[in-house]
Parts: sequence; structure tokens; C-alpha cells
Amino acid sequence: MTTALSPDAILAALDPEQRAAASAVSGPVCILAGAGTGKTRTITHRAAYAVASGAVQPGALLAVTFTARAAGEMRTRLRALGVAGVQARTFHAAAMRQLNYFWPRVVGGPPPRLVDNTFGLVANAATRARLRPGTSELRDLLSELEWAASTLIGPEDYPAAAARAGRDGPYDPAVVASVYEAYGQLKQAQGLADFSDLLLLTAGALEEHAGVAEEFRSRYRSFVVDEYQDVTPLQQRLLDAWLGGREDLCVVGDAHQTIYSFTGASPDYLLEFRRRFPAATEVRLVRDYRSTPQVVALANGVIAQATSRHARLELVAQRPPGPDPVFLEHDDEPAEAKAVAARCRQLIDAGTPASEIAVLYRVNAQSAGYESALTDAGVPYLVRGGARFFDREEVRSAVLLLRGAGRAADDDAPLALPDLVADVLRSGLAWTVEPPAGAGATRDRWESLAALHRLAGDLAVASPTAGLRELVVELEERAAAQHAPSVEGVTLGSLHAAKGLEWDAVFLVGLVDGTLPLVHADTPAAVEEERRLLYVGVTRARTALYLSWALSRSPGGRGNRRPSRFLDGLHSASSKPSGAASAGGAARSARRERSGPVLCRVCGASLTSAVDRKLGRCAGCPVDRDEALFDALRSWRSDRAKGLGQPAFCVFTDATLTAIAEQRPQDVAALVAIPGIGQSKLDKFGDEVLDLVGSTSDA
Ligand code: ATP
Ligand code: MG
Repeated sequence: MTTALSPDAILAALDPEQRAAASAVSGPVCILAGAGTGKTRTITHRAAYAVASGAVQPGALLAVTFTARAAGEMRTRLRALGVAGVQARTFHAAAMRQLNYFWPRVVGGPPPRLVDNTFGLVANAATRARLRPGTSELRDLLSELEWAASTLIGPEDYPAAAARAGRDGPYDPAVVASVYEAYGQLKQAQGLADFSDLLLLTAGALEEHAGVAEEFRSRYRSFVVDEYQDVTPLQQRLLDAWLGGREDLCVVGDAHQTIYSFTGASPDYLLEFRRRFPAATEVRLVRDYRSTPQVVALANGVIAQATSRHARLELVAQRPPGPDPVFLEHDDEPAEAKAVAARCRQLIDAGTPASEIAVLYRVNAQSAGYESALTDAGVPYLVRGGARFFDREEVRSAVLLLRGAGRAADDDAPLALPDLVADVLRSGLAWTVEPPAGAGATRDRWESLAALHRLAGDLAVASPTAGLRELVVELEERAAAQHAPSVEGVTLGSLHAAKGLEWDAVFLVGLVDGTLPLVHADTPAAVEEERRLLYVGVTRARTALYLSWALSRSPGGRGNRRPSRFLDGLHSASSKPSGAASAGGAARSARRERSGPVLCRVCGASLTSAVDRKLGRCAGCPVDRDEALFDALRSWRSDRAKGLGQPAFCVFTDATLTAIAEQRPQDVAALVAIPGIGQSKLDKFGDEVLDLVGSTSDA
């Protein structure tokens, strides 16, 4: 058993605004806040507080998260706060459970089976509509059908609705509608339901059967929805059916992280929550607890260029400073992947756990190059959205073996749970505690089993009396919820799949125009959604952030790609080597780092020491400092420092003054490009420094 925390101890881990939201345990609550400001943390603590203070029974609270992994993490975090029994599920998992429960009473007989091959079913439906679609048309057809279902639009209304929404389907809207119609008929004839049907059928059961609604509402009294900016009309309908006019609903989201509009999701429900519930407690959070000021500055820069109608957002970093984000340009994609894999290797060798590193891309097809580069570099990895953990053969075998061993287990076994598990895995699957050499399939298999072994260790810590049987129960619950234990490897995943998550080091790769934004993003709204994807990507990093692109797809290519337009103005051009590399016009000559002044602006060498980076050149390289300006800056600094009662370096260090005197910034953009001049220094001293630069000439 875990020890329950007192309600006060639970709230003590939050800041005042977060606490205000967490302690509002009844009535409507809305948290509108940027990435990393603690929304998920707040709702987890709110749930724990509601239970610990006795306001809500754990079984009466239903928390909805965006992915099974997020749901699992929430349960784990709640357990750490001493709370068990709160339901944390995705909309789909919650609906499936409810439907299985109510179906016998509402309809009778077994509930419909879940379609396991939607693609195949859509292909059949297309054939019925006399089409012969290729893979990409099929994929687009499927998106259209999913969009229609998510936005509560039936086949007959599809053509008009698609025109209104500016959908760009693979066929004439009337043709898509006929495929949609045929798809529905096929499902019905075969007793199948897809994910959307699960939600619709559950909402229908609650809307139309008073007995079902009454039973459901007497059980569930309080609801929480994370990532509410990406709720679809269909999900909202289910949520309304759950609520049945009640108001104990807490929603949290960030309109700037809306990245599923193409599936029919809309931030309007979040933004208009207050209109729907005028008495709602509304909380806004701006402190970013996740990322360093350097990462936060870049995130603010990305979102400042958004042309959306959402309120402006400016995150305020809370963590100590870290390294500048690193911008890397490569000749071709294999070179980019190789460089990323080498950096991963360095980070791991320097002590960053592999599970604290992520490589994120725009489209899943980009994973293959990174998989092979990481394998070559001997770096373990896992692909999010790849083979599901509990479906892997070695995991299935291990669970069977553990179940068998659990049945035969002697309750007074002298071995600790992790050792028991290691024994079972060793004798049944030849697993060893030490990893095998190299990467590849053998290593993957080892990693899966190691994850089960670690899980046994975690369980033993959380409940010291747990044995094999409890472990098997935990595994069954996790398998049902697809909550995989964390595998020790670098995460490869799409930007879409990364939402809500965080890592110490993040690589955003393939950042070329055409991939981000994707070529298909051909409306201003679609381009804005792509920009938000970059914002989501940047804000996943706690400390180290690498942004890279390749000028050609393959080695020897024409090199005519350009970095994502969303990076325009965000990486400092002053760091471009001013020497041989650019003078020869050799834009593609070498991989270049474009993070702050990482390269000496005099000789082009890579700068490693902090002082050199601040100067933007090697300490020994010839300088071109404006001495009159430097002297003026120094006497200004000493006056200012005296006035503030602070030491001079608190105003600016010598290195910063030297950099100003060398670079003579003429405007705010040039001034902030100098390391050591962040937002607060800019606010305090920016105008005075620019005036000094303007009034002092180096003639
Ligand atoms: P996203 O928009 O990306 O989903 P979020 O707003 O849900 O982000 P969380 O994931 O809850 O943010 O929090 C981000 C990180 O900051 C987490 O590691 C969390 O533990 C930490 N954090 C949040 N609030 C606090 C706090 N008051 N004190 C210390 N750490 C905090
Ligand atoms: Mg979150």
C-alpha cells in the first residue's frame, strides 16, 4: 500500500494559481495555459486533493487524457500521491468499457467487435463504390471518413459540410459520401464498430436510456479532461452525455497547441468554456516549469509569429539557464540522421539516460533513416506508435511465464520480486540482467524484458508486499489500457504523438519547408497548425534542444531545400561562418551549427568556452572593438550599478560589453542576438544601450 498524503501536502506542491485550480474541487473549472506550465500536474493534484479531502470518492472521478500512455502516467502519479481507484482513460477506452457494461441491457447480445483493419474495410467500401484507390487515396479517404464521424456528419451531409470546411478529399465529395455510406453498411452487416462508433454508441446509450444514464450518473460525479484544445464534436457529445447537465467538469488546455484540427478537433470548446459556464473558475498559468529560459525564449519566438486569433502567449521560464538551442544544417538526410545519432551517443555517454532523449519528426516515414542511424551508432531506441508493447512476442511469452510462475508461487518465497522475475525470464527466455552487445532485434527483445524487470522493481518499491500474482494483475491492467512500461531507449516519434510529454534532450529533425510546414498545408489555417506543431516540439525539451534540416534528400542532391520558414529570424545569422565557408558561396560545404555565436565570426572555428561564445569569437582572434563605445559603456555601467546598489557585472559582464562594442547593435533584434542579453536586461537597459551605440561613433 502507498501512504496517503494529507490534502495540504498535496496542494503544497503547486504554485498559488495552480493551487487555486486544484482546490476548486466542485463546479466548472478551466485552466488555459501554455506548454509546461503544469496543467497536467495541476489536474493530477486536483484529483488527489479531491479524494484526500473527501470531496469526491475515487471511483466517482473520471479523468480523460489524450493517450493511453498519458492515462497510465496519471494513474502512476496518483498512486505516488497516495490515491488509488481514480479512472484515468482515453475517451475511447472509457467508452469501450462503458459500452461493454451497458450493451447487454440496452441492445442485448454481445457488443459489436472493434474493427481491427479499418484500412481494409475502407478499401472494400471503395470497391463497392466502383473505385480503385491506391494507398494514398485510401489513406485520404480514411481521413475524410474519420473527420466526418468526429464532426458528427453523416454521409448525406458530407458533401455540403466538406465544402464548408474546405476539405480537400481524394475524390469528388459525392463520391466520398458514397464510400462513407458503403463503409457504414459493411460495418453493420459484419457487427463491427470503429473507434468513432464506440463514442457515438455510448453517447446514444446515455442519451436514450434513462436507466443507463441514471446508473452512470450515480456512479461518476466528477470529470477532468486534459488537452481539451483538441476535443472533437463527437468527444464533446460523449462528455455532455456523461455530464447530463451537471457541472463538475474541469478542463485544461492550450489553444496554441491545437494540432488535430485536421481530424475535426476544435479549440472553441476550450475558448468558449467560460461562455458556457459563466460561473467557472478560470485560471491562467504562465510560469514554465519544464524548460530552460533558452528553450522558452525560442518557444515564445515561434508562437509570437503565429497569426492566430488566440490570445498572445508569453511563457516565463522558471528553471535555471541551460545551453542555447542548437541549429544544425546538413547536406543530406543520411548525414543529418548520422549526426543526430552521434549526438545521442555523446549525450548517453555523458550520462543522459536514453529514455530522456527524443527524436521528433513531422511524418512517420521519417523514422526509418533514424532507426538505421541509431542502430549503426549502437543507440537503443523505441518507435512510438510502433508495435505495441504488450503485443510483442517476447512480452506475451514473458507474461504467460510469469502468470504460470505466479500460480505456482510459494507465498513465503525467499526471493524479492525483481529477483523472482529475473529468474523466470532467465530460465524461460534466456534473458540476462546484463544487456547483450550491440543494437538491433536482439537488443530490442532484451529491452522489452528489461522493462518488465524494472516494472517489478517499481512495484516492489510502491507495494513492498507485492508478489508475482500482484505483478501479473498489474501487467493485465496495463495491457488492457495499453500502458507500456518505459523502455530504456531513445524515443522516436512524430510531433503529434509527442504532445504532453517531456524529455531532457529533444531533436527536432527534418525541419525543411515542405516537411514543416508539410507541402499539403496549402491554406493559411493549415500553415498555422504546422507552426503550432513546431511550438509543441520545441516545448517538449527540458534542457537540450537541437533543430536540424538537410539541404538535399540524398547525398549528391541539388541542395535546393530551405530551412522551415518558421525558423526565419529565430536562428542568428551572425553565427554563419564569415570566413572561407560562406565567402566561397559554399552554402552546402559543411555542416554548420547556427546556435547563437557557436562559430567564431572572425575565423569560423567552433567556440566552446562560455566567454568565447559570449564574445562571438575566439579570445585570440583579431578584434575590431569600438574603444570609444566600450569606454562609454563601462562608465554608463558603473553609474547604473551604483544607482541600483549592485555589482557592475549584474548589469552586464565585461564580455557582453565587449561584444556590444564590437558588434555595435543598431536595433533591438541585433541587441538580443548578443548572448547575455535576455528579455529582462532588454527591458531594463535596452534603450539606454542603443542610445549609447547611436551617440558614439567609432570614427
Ligand atoms: P503541456 O502543455 O506540454 O501538456 P503542462 O502544462 O501539462 O504541459 P506539466 O506536464 O504538468 O505541464 O508540467 C511540466 C513540468 O513542470 C513537469 O515536469 C512538472 O512536474 C513541472 N511542474 C509543473 N508545475 C510545477 C510546480 N509548481 N513546481 C515544480 N514543478 C512543476
Ligand atoms: Mg500536459
